[in-house]
Amino acid sequence: MSQNAWLSKKLKNSKILCEACSKACVLSEDEYGICGVRKVEDGQLKLLVYGLAAAANIDPVEKKPMFHFLPQSKAFSLGTVGCNFSCKFCQNHDISQYPKENNHEIVGREFPPEHIVKLALEHGCDSIAYTYNEPIVFFEYTYDTAKLAHEKGLKNIYVTSGYETHKAIDLLEPYIDGMNIDIKSFSNEFYKEICGARLKPVLETVKYAHEKGIWVEITTLLIQGKNDSDEEIREIAKFIASVDKSIPWHLSAFHPMYKMLDIPRTPESTLLRAYKIGQEEGLKYLYIGNIDNEDHESTYCPNCKKRVVDRSGNIGQYVINKLRDNGVCPLCNYELEGVWK
Ligand code: SF4
Repeated sequence: MSQNAWLSKKLKNSKILCEACSKACVLSEDEYGICGVRKVEDGQLKLLVYGLAAAANIDPVEKKPMFHFLPQSKAFSLGTVGCNFSCKFCQNHDISQYPKENNHEIVGREFPPEHIVKLALEHGCDSIAYTYNEPIVFFEYTYDTAKLAHEKGLKNIYVTSGYETHKAIDLLEPYIDGMNIDIKSFSNEFYKEICGARLKPVLETVKYAHEKGIWVEITTLLIQGKNDSDEEIREIAKFIASVDKSIPWHLSAFHPMYKMLDIPRTPESTLLRAYKIGQEEGLKYLYIGNIDNEDHESTYCPNCKKRVVDRSGNIGQYVINKLRDNGVCPLCNYELEGVWK
């Protein structure tokens, strides 16, 4: 199923600029974007995966991970094939890299926006998450779905590598309520060598989405010997703190995957070291992930320091939320930052 990819601009030389992500592909007739799912046909940029889900599941919102966003709720989670990054450690490489590794083939089951919203409501979800692969590459599909979801009282979440253009964020802002953005490293070399991308646009997206009032959480997958030095972790923590100390930071354990099978699983000690560095830089909400550690995946009130959301299980499967409806600490009345209802 393909549809016009309207987040694009015709250039004077009869080429088309895709305006969805910072790769800024300029394409001629029959050319594909780097993501493999946007292509010029008949003088028009098309989104080849419109209405075609490669993965659809109902997940706890904590799995996204979003910890300050409607805790204990279900998120209808959706992804297509294709990605603008080429991370060597991608957990979903079978779908994200599929078109690039299969001669531009597009696969997926028909899931038009109306169907997704209907299923989400039928299954008692409170939100729709655009996840598994990079959602900005299927922008128009997410936009139509998110708009319809809002009309029906559902919230929307982007789980992203942070390559959205400002124009895309301006368009998404009325409908996207939360974003989990990866800061995969603080080194441009890492982004270049391991992800086929750059650091700067990611940092700009974090700042811009936050400025626009979208609720932002950050995830960093710590990989031994690649991005886990004290210095680099501290740089990321300082950057997040410079944007807003109340942005939650999820520190996740790497496990061998895809093209990085030679690197061992991240030890818990690394995650705890990063957690401490985040605290030293004044971040209010730190979480370790991909590992079961109740003390470090629960939420503590920044004012009275008491535990206000209990989480255990390696994706926060077990959640007990003691906050009052609008995120207020039941013990000291501090209002914790987040989207609570
Ligand atoms: S979304 Fe795809 S086609 Fe558009 S700029 Fe990004 S990589 Fe290129």
